[in-house]
Amino acid sequence: MKKNDIFELEITDMGTDGEGIGHYDGMTFFVKDALIGDVITARATKLKKNYGYARVEEIKTPSTFRVEPQCELHKRCGGCQIQALSYEKQLEFKNNKVRNNLMRIGGFSEAKLDSKMQPPVGADNPYRYRNKAQFPVGYDRDGNIVTGFYASRSHNIIPVEDCRLGVPQNKEILDIIKEWMNECGITPYDENTHKGLVRHVLIRYGFTSKQIMVCLVINADELEPEHRAEDTLCERLSKIDGMTSISYNINKENTNVILGKKTVCIWGRPYIEDTIHLLSYPDFTPQGTGITYQISPQSFYQVNPKQTEKLYSTALAFAGLTGNENVWDLYCGIGTISLFLSQKAKQVYGVEIVPQAIEDAKNNAKLNGITNAQFFVGKAEEVLPQFYENAKKKENITDDTASTGHTDMLRPDVIVVDPPRKGCDEKCLDTMLAMSPERIVYVSCDSATLARDLKILCEEKYELMKWQAFDQFSHTTHVETVVLLSQQKPDDTIEIDLDLDELDATSAELKATY
Ligand code: SAH
Repeated sequence: MKKNDIFELEITDMGTDGEGIGHYDGMTFFVKDALIGDVITARATKLKKNYGYARVEEIKTPSTFRVEPQCELHKRCGGCQIQALSYEKQLEFKNNKVRNNLMRIGGFSEAKLDSKMQPPVGADNPYRYRNKAQFPVGYDRDGNIVTGFYASRSHNIIPVEDCRLGVPQNKEILDIIKEWMNECGITPYDENTHKGLVRHVLIRYGFTSKQIMVCLVINADELEPEHRAEDTLCERLSKIDGMTSISYNINKENTNVILGKKTVCIWGRPYIEDTIHLLSYPDFTPQGTGITYQISPQSFYQVNPKQTEKLYSTALAFAGLTGNENVWDLYCGIGTISLFLSQKAKQVYGVEIVPQAIEDAKNNAKLNGITNAQFFVGKAEEVLPQFYENAKKKENITDDTASTGHTDMLRPDVIVVDPPRKGCDEKCLDTMLAMSPERIVYVSCDSATLARDLKILCEEKYELMKWQAFDQFSHTTHVETVVLLSQQKPDDTIEIDLDLDELDATSAELKATY
């Protein structure tokens, strides 16, 4: 086999990035845009010892799982990877991805995983689900200003006028921004030269509030005041129905991180609001109407609000609250999960690294009249250990007795974690183990790091009770998972409610008999 050789390949599996996998001539081939069940004519593009990469030359027999994608740019744009795969098969693929990671990295047995699995939760509509988009701004080959998404594994912008995963308003907003840039002579940012002004456009839409936020990420301390450029932009954008917040964010760093630390509101409010209403828990919120959140540009907020209701309902069910529990919500963002937890807990503590998000979380508690949720800004792996050490000192507790029988947040009943893709820091996991809550609910957006962390927790003292995959990101290979862990019960202890009086009576009876 040589580079550029052409051969027939049957795609028999799919890799974690959605690529098709087939075997030929003793080698494994990875093929972008080929689907499980396809028979293709492949061209070898890169060869290693036992494996290689190939390109689809022709689809000879299409897979029965192939469907017509809604977006004509789906192969070029890096946003979607599996739009041509039927939705049912997408769900199966995602569930298998989590299962494989839990098996390979987590070390759980197949039998255990299958007995603890809850069926994967799919979306009612896998299109137009995203409430947030971040569009890079640049030039095309002819020097026109374009907005869109990066091509996969590159920073070439594919001009996407109307992404089918986002809301239709995105296009109108981007058109106004491009027109404004052209008229005012405002330049897009160039990554190579580090020159130019506008880097990204962040747009958020509140699905329940219908409020819109636009935030321009710029490579300067302010917009050009001499052109009164701000006024022109705000005047045009504010005509769009629902426009609530226009701001710019300063990012002068030479980095891939999209947002800088400082945001300046130039029109309307510095945030939008949105409400999450858990259909399966209508009584979980003060008036049964959900919890309303204020969301700043820098704060994290789940991108698929419909699926989020299902995800949070499950996280709450797994937490098993009755009203008396002390609960930590680590990586809490704007307090989304914390404020639901607080409805059925005694006390909730939230921890989050982004100061703006903690500001939002505190305001959100007030906004919803919630008084039993407290928030701390900082890294979970620093705040939790510090709290633990201080609380132990205060209560004069030694390591030996720390995990037995004292109250409040030092020995919480439940810890919920919802970390970013890199998962939990080991120091955070160690402190969780020391705090020894009865249950841990792990919400994860990366099943590989989830599996790594569960291995640590389950080797020590926890047992996997339930896991469930959620499709928060249809047409991409990403998958969200919620896991319930409970403290292991030693095999030889059987839990029985002992009635001591009856026991005494029985032993008296026994004594009398002998
Ligand atoms: N539970 C929230 C947010 C989850 S996203 C929700 O459902 O909306 C993960 C969050 O973790 C983000 O808000 C991110 O800013 C935060 N984060 C990232 N690293 C962190 C760390 N080391 N310690 C605490 N929070 C962190």
